[in-house]
Amino acid sequence: MFQRILIANRGEIAVRIIRACREMGIETVAVYSQADKEALHVKMADQAICIGGPLPKDSYLHMENIISAAIGSGAQAIHPGFGFLSENTKFARICESCNIKFIGPDASIIEKMGDKARAREMMIKAGVPVVPGSNGVVESIDMAKDIARDIGYPVMIKASSGGGGRGMRLVWEEAELGKAFSSARAESKGAFGDDSVYIEKYIERPRHIEFQIMADEHGRVVHLGERDCSLQRRHQKMIEESPAPGISNDLRDRMGNHAIKAAKAVNYSNAGTIEFIMDQDDNYYFIEMNTRIQVEHPVTEMVTGIDLIKEQINIAAGKELSFKQDDTEIQGHAIECRINAENPEFNFRPCAGSISGLHIPGGRNIRIETAIYDSYCVPHVYDSMLMKIIAYGDNRQEALNLIRRALAELQIGGIDTNIDFQYKLVHTHEFEKGDFDTGFIEREFDSIMTSMEVIS
Ligand code: ADP
Repeated sequence: MFQRILIANRGEIAVRIIRACREMGIETVAVYSQADKEALHVKMADQAICIGGPLPKDSYLHMENIISAAIGSGAQAIHPGFGFLSENTKFARICESCNIKFIGPDASIIEKMGDKARAREMMIKAGVPVVPGSNGVVESIDMAKDIARDIGYPVMIKASSGGGGRGMRLVWEEAELGKAFSSARAESKGAFGDDSVYIEKYIERPRHIEFQIMADEHGRVVHLGERDCSLQRRHQKMIEESPAPGISNDLRDRMGNHAIKAAKAVNYSNAGTIEFIMDQDDNYYFIEMNTRIQVEHPVTEMVTGIDLIKEQINIAAGKELSFKQDDTEIQGHAIECRINAENPEFNFRPCAGSISGLHIPGGRNIRIETAIYDSYCVPHVYDSMLMKIIAYGDNRQEALNLIRRALAELQIGGIDTNIDFQYKLVHTHEFEKGDFDTGFIEREFDSIMTSMEVIS
């Protein structure tokens, strides 16, 4: 087992990984930017190394500085968390060549799955259902028109290297296709340095259902059930839950088997997520694989009782998975709300500044993942997520009652947050019934905002 792990991340996920390491008796090395001197992960780790300026490119994305910190501190492995370098093939390769274990899949797998057009092709070959669309990259507007005519409008143009919803365009009719094709390519080129795009049929009112995969380096692949992440705004998830409302055991088995097939097709190892979208008739289609731990992993941990970060570390150390498919069982229900520093009334404008009057909820079956503390100053240069609240109940209604109660208790002063918005969202009739799709928040924004008096 590793004696020392460097965590190439910040915020709540860095804290989460430090905690897992400490419980395993592994020393931790934090890295931080000049904007993060006072950050909690810096205070909690056994040692902390400043790796550069506030901008991500000067620190958390600066590969040479991170590798130097790992070598200098004698870390044998690097946990990349999510975001930043977690899906960066080059970084995983550098780790490999420096004899530092990258806690994640092989660089070659990250590369294959990071190219979404290619991943689609591989899934088609493996017999995993994908959204009807192009076979790989679409080279020209004429080719795009032919495919769109074939599958029928509306269609989505998507960036092969895409992520975070960028380089994606919805097209309702042929007249809009040329412009959307060019702008998706340009946006993708700007964001990812790659202008290749592919086409999918637009699935109307879909749900986003993803499967957690764990795979060891000895060929065993297990799925840990699904998460429903349909409550999104601009393709950014806001609430996630497990199990997904209304998914039967039979459907879970079928989807889970396809998820395992997808992972096996690429010889996957470590933690990964197979994302599907599901239409109103329960048809489901692979959209992408994330080759890292996800923000929403705690809901799966709550319903399976498995610590995914510890498993990741064990897998990277060459151990076999500690469970088989038949040992895993989904018990109870977990709901996670993401609390962000943003103002819903001003188009969810991000906010930075000093936190005051912090009150963190507690009580039975409430789990908090955060790196904020009273008087902590939220920097403006990073992601706006401040906290995840996870509620666990014997069933969905109990988890719902708990998350509502926890959101009512939570107080974060000094900065704008989406707490009230989340409170209203979990009180909507649709959320209560589990009857929502990925467009719900944007479609119903006004009615959600005015649905209740602001809580005090
Ligand atoms: P990204 O990697 O940029 O997040 P994804 O392929 O994961 O892109 O898609 C993000 C979200 O966009 C999905 O959760 C879903 O809400 C929506 N989406 C993606 N593809 C389609 C599609 N073919 N039809 C309808 N919605 C889609």
